[in-house]
Amino acid sequence: MGSGKVTDGQGLSFEGKHVTVAGLGVSGIPAAKVLHGLGALVTVVNDGDDERSRAQAADLEALGITVRLGDGATLPDGTELIVTTPGWQPDKPLFTAARAAGVEIWGDVELAWRLRGRDGEEPAPWLAVTGTNGKTTTVQMLASILKAGGLRTAAVGNIGVSVLDAVLGDERYDVLAVELSSYQLHWAPSLRAHSAAILNLAPDHLDWHGSMEAYAADKGRIYEGNQVACVYNVADKATEDLVREADVEEGCRAIGFTLGSPAPSQLGVVDGILVDRAFVEDRQKNAQELAEVSDVNPPAPHNIANALAAAALARAFGVPAKAVRDGLRAFTPDAHRIAHVADVDGVAYIDDSKATNTHAAEASLAAYESIVWIAGGLAKGATFDELVAKSAKHLRGVVLIGADRALIREALARHAPEVPVVDLDRTDTGAMLAAVQEAQRLAAVGDTVLLAPACASMDMFANYNKRGDAFATAVRELGA
Ligand code: ADP
Repeated sequence: MGSGKVTDGQGLSFEGKHVTVAGLGVSGIPAAKVLHGLGALVTVVNDGDDERSRAQAADLEALGITVRLGDGATLPDGTELIVTTPGWQPDKPLFTAARAAGVEIWGDVELAWRLRGRDGEEPAPWLAVTGTNGKTTTVQMLASILKAGGLRTAAVGNIGVSVLDAVLGDERYDVLAVELSSYQLHWAPSLRAHSAAILNLAPDHLDWHGSMEAYAADKGRIYEGNQVACVYNVADKATEDLVREADVEEGCRAIGFTLGSPAPSQLGVVDGILVDRAFVEDRQKNAQELAEVSDVNPPAPHNIANALAAAALARAFGVPAKAVRDGLRAFTPDAHRIAHVADVDGVAYIDDSKATNTHAAEASLAAYESIVWIAGGLAKGATFDELVAKSAKHLRGVVLIGADRALIREALARHAPEVPVVDLDRTDTGAMLAAVQEAQRLAAVGDTVLLAPACASMDMFANYNKRGDAFATAVRELGA
């Protein structure tokens, strides 16, 4: 990979190049338009040929872009570059054909990276974040801290502004806080961040990557070529191993974050204070106070870890300690991420519908003492033994919903046989109200009713937002 036919930063020219865009949709359509605008001869290929894609195709064709529906497998003649939707799996026949023909394959992030600085201005450096869970939260915290430090920035990636818009739009940035998924990293071979963090690494999307090793290797790409800091999670050795394997710029440092007391070159927590022992003079002896744990919203352990990772990246960029505190105070989490919905009769109702895998659910179950847990949905091949075994001591009771609830029920029988379980045996949308009512029945004063399904939502809801909304509506009915 490298600066082949169509490449090379500011000098990049797409004029007259045959570029195939793989996949319509949120990243394919903007990529096709951008490339067309740069003079490329664009063909979009798409597997589906339904009403929606026909409408999208008509819009693109009106601009002069060729669209081929119902065949995403065949490489169009003359293709010089493929720009793919990140979700397309690497073993697709289209890519096999492209590789055989020596055609480069870029994702949306790679395209954005290569288009930086086209206007002749010095491009904004990227502070990049990946991990199995916590990416969005961390990137938003980071943007908030950078802003508090007086920098022009935005949280970009799967949130807010797309990476392409950030790079090509009129807005000027000093630095970007970039969220990157493992898919995007897979397809972004030349990306070189100023500094980057991997928050954690747990099995996810293994069907796409093929194995845990391949998944970790794609995540690890985020450290490649880092200039100032590779930020890792001290509690997750796999993230530190990836730092060690990375090929970085001379002088780039490995910086750990920990919920414990930090060693030199780490950020951590001492007596309820977030402290920096990495970006200080004489770190053997000194530490810099950054913020209080109570400045983190919500102050759940995994979220404090996110705050430390964000702080590490901001400090690597030279942001003063006070901006970390101000930025964390100014941050409010997105909906459905440990959102406090209401207190009803002395019981707190928390919506963590975004906990769509076991690793995320484990983090939120660790954040409360005594929990009535609402769980279930689509397991996506996950197993629940470890989650249940680790969380059993927090469980007052469990209410199960959704298609794969039997998997959780069986794990509960094995590892928490004394915990009462209500299996609703329902997958209709109305099941959420029944689940909340059952949870209320099981809960005692001081408990937390926690929706942290550990599963995807699509068996019952359009997405996790709708699932969380249904939970909140049901809770409000209780209180009414
Ligand atoms: P992502 O963008 O990686 O999906 P989010 O910030 O949207 O991450 O958080 C998703 C869910 O993951 C949250 O609802 C929470 O349950 C869980 N979570 C957030 N941060 C962490 C973390 N550091 N470790 C484990 N789980 C986390």
